[in-house]
Amino acid sequence: MDAAPKERLRILARGCVQGVGFRPHVHRLATNLGVTGWVRNCAQGVSIEVEGPRRDLEGFLRRLAVERPPNSFIEAMETWWLASTGYDGFKILESNGEGQINAIVMPDLATCPDCLEELFDPGNRRFHYPFINCTHCGPRYSIVEALPYDRARTSMRPFVMCEECAREYNDPENRRFHAEPNACPNCGPFVELWDLDGRVLSQHGKALLSAAQHVRDGKILALKGIGGFQLIVNASNQNAVQRLRARKHREEKPFALMYPSLYAARCDCEISEAEAGALQSPASPIVLLRRLREEMPLVAPGNPRLGVMLPYSPLHHLLMRELGFPVVATSGNRTDEPICIDENESLTRLDGIADVYLAHNRRIVRHVDDSIVHVMLGREQVLRRARGYAPLPLPIHPRTADHPQVIAVGAHLKSAVALASDGQAFVSQHIGDLETVEAFDAFRRAIADLQNLYGATPGVIVSDTHPDYLSTKFADSRRGDSPSAGRVRVQHHIAHVLACLAENEVALPSLGVCWDGTGLGVDGSVWGGEFFVVTRENVERIATFRRFRLPGGDQAVQEPRRSALGVLYEIYGPAVFAIEGLRPVQAFSASWLPTFAHMLKSGLNSPWTSSAGRLFDAVAALIGLRQQLAFEGQAAMDLEFAMEGFGTDESYAVRFDEEPIFTFDWQPMIAEILRDLREGASAGVISAKFHNTLAEVIVAVARRAGQPQVALSGGCFQNRYLTERAARRLEGSGFRPFWHQRIPPNDGGIAYGQIIAALRNQR
Ligand code: ZN
Ligand code: ZN
Ligand code: FE
Repeated sequence: MDAAPKERLRILARGCVQGVGFRPHVHRLATNLGVTGWVRNCAQGVSIEVEGPRRDLEGFLRRLAVERPPNSFIEAMETWWLASTGYDGFKILESNGEGQINAIVMPDLATCPDCLEELFDPGNRRFHYPFINCTHCGPRYSIVEALPYDRARTSMRPFVMCEECAREYNDPENRRFHAEPNACPNCGPFVELWDLDGRVLSQHGKALLSAAQHVRDGKILALKGIGGFQLIVNASNQNAVQRLRARKHREEKPFALMYPSLYAARCDCEISEAEAGALQSPASPIVLLRRLREEMPLVAPGNPRLGVMLPYSPLHHLLMRELGFPVVATSGNRTDEPICIDENESLTRLDGIADVYLAHNRRIVRHVDDSIVHVMLGREQVLRRARGYAPLPLPIHPRTADHPQVIAVGAHLKSAVALASDGQAFVSQHIGDLETVEAFDAFRRAIADLQNLYGATPGVIVSDTHPDYLSTKFADSRRGDSPSAGRVRVQHHIAHVLACLAENEVALPSLGVCWDGTGLGVDGSVWGGEFFVVTRENVERIATFRRFRLPGGDQAVQEPRRSALGVLYEIYGPAVFAIEGLRPVQAFSASWLPTFAHMLKSGLNSPWTSSAGRLFDAVAALIGLRQQLAFEGQAAMDLEFAMEGFGTDESYAVRFDEEPIFTFDWQPMIAEILRDLREGASAGVISAKFHNTLAEVIVAVARRAGQPQVALSGGCFQNRYLTERAARRLEGSGFRPFWHQRIPPNDGGIAYGQIIAALRNQR
C-alpha cells in the first residue's frame, strides 16, 4: 500500500505563546507524531509549518491547543493547507524579527473558559458581570482607537479601575495583567434596558432578566453586543420571526441563530469535529451547518443549512443561559446599511424594527459584524471576514521585503478594504454593499481607520476597473489630494484569482479560474466565467464562457428569468417567444415580451456577458426554481439545494469553440436540459448534472492549459457542491486544486487581490 500523500499545514497562532515554553511543546508534539517542519516566534505570535499525512496533521492541530503548556494561551489561530515542500526533520527556527509585536491589533475574542467559570461562580466578585474579560479574551478591535494598544487609547478610558481591578492589572502573575478592558461591577460598564424613546426601564441584572422576558414574550430585542447591535427574537416563535422579517423588509434571506450551547445546536444540526472546532474557537463565527429537522421554517426558508453561532460575549452567555432556547441573532441594521453601533443612534436607525433595547455604556469604536465560515473538504472557508478575524494581517505572497504602502478599496458588493504595510496585508472587517450613504460612509471610515491605526500614508491606491463603482470613484477623488500617488486599477476577476493564489502560496505559473456574477471585463462587457494563466510577470485570459445578452443590464441580477431569456435568445433568436412551455418566458406578462424582443435584437440596455453566475441564474429559471430574487445569490442557492438527495455522476455535453479564444459553449448543455425537462426529469437531477458539467469544463480547460495547478475563485465557489466536485475531479485527473481558506471567494476577497496585483506591478 502506498504511503498517504503528504500535505503541509501552516499555523499562525496569536496570543500568549512566546516565552511560555510553547516552541518546545510544538517540537515535542511534532516529533511525537513524526511530522516534519519548523516553528518560530514571529511578530504576531508563533508561526508553525508541519508536513505529513493529513491525519497526522489533523492530530497535531487537535493536540496543539489541548496539550498546551500552562500559562500559554492561543487567542487566535488561522490555518492554511498548502502543498508539501519536503521538510526534513523538525526544527525550532530563529525569529525572523519582522514587524513589531505591539503594532498588531488583535481581533475581538470570545469569552475564555476561565472567565466563563468565574461568570457563573456565585462566589466570584464578577458573578453575572456582563463585561468580564482577561488577557485571553474580550473586546479588542471594536474598542481600540489608536496604537499602541493600551487602555488610554480604547473606549475603556472613561472607566477608572477600582483598587482590586488595578491590582490584577498590575500583577504580572495575574490573568488580567494588562488586560486593557479589565473591569468589574464596581468600576466597569453596565447594561440598561431602554424603551423606544430611550428611557431607562431598568439597569444591571434586572435589565438583563427583563430583556430575556421580552424575548420569551416574542418581542424583538435590540442588543448592543461586541461589534454592534443585534436583533434578537425567539427562533421558535413563528410570529416573532415573521414580524422581524416584515419590519426588516427581509422576506427570505436566512437569519443566523445563536444556540445556548453546542449540545443544543446538535439537536437541530449535524456538526462535524471541524465545525465544532470553528464554533468553539476564540473567533466564534457563524458556522453554516446541515440542519437535521424542518423546525423553525421561517429562519432560513427552503434552506438545508442553518447559520449557527454560540454565545461569544459574557452578555450573550448570560442571556442565553437565562433563555435556554435558540434565538435569531441578526445584525441590527436596515438592509444595505452597516450595523448600528451607538445606542442613541439606534433609537432612530432601528426605529420601527426593535421593541426594546438592551444597551450599555462601553462605546463601540468601529462596527464589526459576525463572521461567517463553512467547512468544505475538511477545511474552514471564511465567507465573511469580520469579528474574530479582522484585522489580523495576512501574508503577502510572494514575499516582498521592500514595497510601498498600498491601500486597496475593493469592489462594490460585500465591500472590504485592505492596507499593505511592512510586508503584511491588513484586510478590514466586512463593510457590506456600497448601496447606501451609510455604507459609503462606513467604507470611507474603514479606509481612514486602517491608515490611522497603522500610521500609514499609502503612496499607491488601487481599485477595480469599473468606473461606476463608488469605490473606484473614491480612489479617483483621493488621487486628486496627492497627484503624486500611484493609481492602479485591477480587473475584477484577476484580483479574485490573485487573492486565491496568494493566500495558498501557489508557486507560479498556475491556472486561475474565476466564476462570479458580475465584473467589468477589459473589453467593456460583463465578465464572470473566466480562466487565466498567471505567471510571475503576466496574466493571460485563456478561456471564457460563450456570451449572451442581459436584457436590462443590472436589473437582470435580480431576475434570473432575464438571464434565461438572454441564453435562449442566443440559441433560438426571435423564435424563442413562440416556443411553448418555457418557464422564464411564461414568467413575464405577455405585454412585456415585445420590449424584450426589441432589447435583445438591438442590444439596447442589454450588455453582453460571459458570467457563470448568470448562467446559474438562467438554469435556475429554466427549470422553474426561481424567476425573481429576494436576495443576492438566491437562485444559485436554490440550484445547489435542489440537488439534496439527488446524487448522480452524469453530466451534459461539453463543447468548446476555438475562436477568438477557447470558449465554453453551453448550447448543447442547455439543449439537453430542455430535453430532460420535457421528459420530466426532476430539478434535482438536472441541477446535479449541470453542476457536474461545469466541473468537467474546469477539467477540460486545465488540460488545455497544461497547468498542473488550478486555483478556484469568485462567488460561484461559495457553492460547496461545485467546489468539492471540481476539486475532486481535478485531483482525479492529475491536477492540484486550490480554493479559498482565510479570504472569502466572494467580493470580500477583492481588496486583498488588488494589493497582490499592485505589488506585482512594483516588481
Ligand atoms: Zn478570559
Ligand atoms: Zn473593578
Ligand atoms: Fe466578484
